[in-house]
Amino acid sequence: MQTPEKPTPKEEQMGMPERQAYSLNSRKVAEATRSWLEKRGIKIEEIAELVLFLQKKYYPGLTMEECVHNVEKVLEKREVQNAVLTGIQLDVLAEEGKLLSPLQEMIKNDEGLYGVDEILALSIVNVYGSIGLTNFGYVDKLKPGVLERLNDKSLGPVHTFLDDIVGAIASAASSRIAHNKQSEREVEIELPKEPGDD
Ligand code: MG
Repeated sequence: MQTPEKPTPKEEQMGMPERQAYSLNSRKVAEATRSWLEKRGIKIEEIAELVLFLQKKYYPGLTMEECVHNVEKVLEKREVQNAVLTGIQLDVLAEEGKLLSPLQEMIKNDEGLYGVDEILALSIVNVYGSIGLTNFGYVDKLKPGVLERLNDKSLGPVHTFLDDIVGAIASAASSRIAHNKQSEREVEIELPKEPGDD
């Protein structure tokens, strides 16, 4: 909810009215993230399939359901939502020809020397530590599943940012699984607790 903010003495002097203070609406940001992924043709299940692809060799019993759950958890993070909204917005603007030159041409053509798309995606990968980084590099090279579609330039839409974002979400979810499986294992073998573990 936005609340009006009192004008500063200078604004009052100039006869300026009360301003609407900016306040963040987290629910709106979360909803916009989900809705933009959907509008750009990305299903949560497709990201979960990438997670399964990345993790099944380490955890043979891993289910699609667990992968979907971990993707959902990654999408709850604000850093992730910020990156998704920023990247998709740039893709959409480039598609509509609304960016300024030469950025417009660079993003539209997914210019090889423009690496800001990967850098933005790293803010997603970093949420769950450096394990995600290896996976991110791996899927970026292999481009399995949905990433192959996103990289097909003949299809029309601009996905310069979205391909890295999707790969990064899958990598972060994989990393989250690896951390959680380790904790589960430690509980199973009843490792003695370190002081301050609780
Ligand atoms: Mg890219």
